[in-house]
Amino acid sequence: LRKPLLVGNWKMNKLIADVQTFCTEFGRQEDVTAQVSCMIAPTYLGLQTAAKLAAQSRLGVVSQNVHHEKSGAFTGEISIQMLADIGVRASIVGHSERRQFFGETDQSVALKTRALLNANFLAITCVGETQAERQSGKTFEVVSRQLSAVLNLIEYSDNFSIAYEPVWAIGTGLNATPEQAQEVHAFIRKTLSEKFGKAGADKTRILYGGSVKSSNIQGLYAQPCIDGALVGGASLDPQEFWKIGSTIAGTKK
Ligand code: PEP
Repeated sequence: LRKPLLVGNWKMNKLIADVQTFCTEFGRQEDVTAQVSCMIAPTYLGLQTAAKLAAQSRLGVVSQNVHHEKSGAFTGEISIQMLADIGVRASIVGHSERRQFFGETDQSVALKTRALLNANFLAITCVGETQAERQSGKTFEVVSRQLSAVLNLIEYSDNFSIAYEPVWAIGTGLNATPEQAQEVHAFIRKTLSEKFGKAGADKTRILYGGSVKSSNIQGLYAQPCIDGALVGGASLDPQEFWKIGSTIAGTKK
C-alpha cells in the first residue's frame, strides 16, 4: 500500500568530497530501492553534487530546510525554485533542531509544507514532543497541535509525508519502543483520516525518527503504521544506511 521511505538527515556534517564518497559506496551495495525509496539530505552545499550522482547512486536528494517565499529580502535563505534549479524535489521541514535553535514555529512549518506541496515537492514534515512534554502526559496534545497547524493549510497530496520524531530520542541513543512509536503513528493516521478521509490517510507515509540504526529498525518498521525512517547519526555511514534500507526491505508487515 505504502512504499517505505528511508531518509538520511546529515545535519551540518560532511564536505563535498564526502558526499561523493558516500554516493559511490552506497551505489556499490545491492539495489534495495525497488522495495524502499532511499534519500539523503546533505547540507545545501552538498545537494548539487548529490543530485548529479543520484542516478548512479540510486539515492534521492532532499533539502534539510527551505524558505516558503519565492524570492526576496530573506538573507541567508534558499527558495524552492533554487532547489528545483539544481535538481532537488524534496525537503524536510520543521525538524526539531530548526524549531529549537532557529525559532521555527508551527505556523512557519505549515507555510513551508504548503509551499512545497504547491511546487510538487515531496514534503517531509517533522513533529514530535520533548521529554518534558511526554513526562507530563502531553504527547498527543503537542503532536496534534503541530499537525493541525499544517493540516489547516494543505489539501491531500501524494507528496505529503510526516516524520514523527520524539525530541528525547533524537541523537540520544534512546529510541522509542516500537509500541510507543506505533501508538503515536496510529494517532497521526487517525488525525489524517479526519482531514483526508481513510483513503488519503492510508496513502500517507509516516516515518519514525530518533536513534534509528540497523539493529533497531526491524521492530519499528514491523509496526503497522510505521512506513520508514528519518535517520540522523546512522545515516552518515553508507554501509549502515544501506543496512537499514535492506532490513526494511526484508521486514514483513
Ligand atoms: C534526526 O536528526 O532526524 C534524527 C532522528 O537523528 P538521530 O537518528 O541521530 O537520532
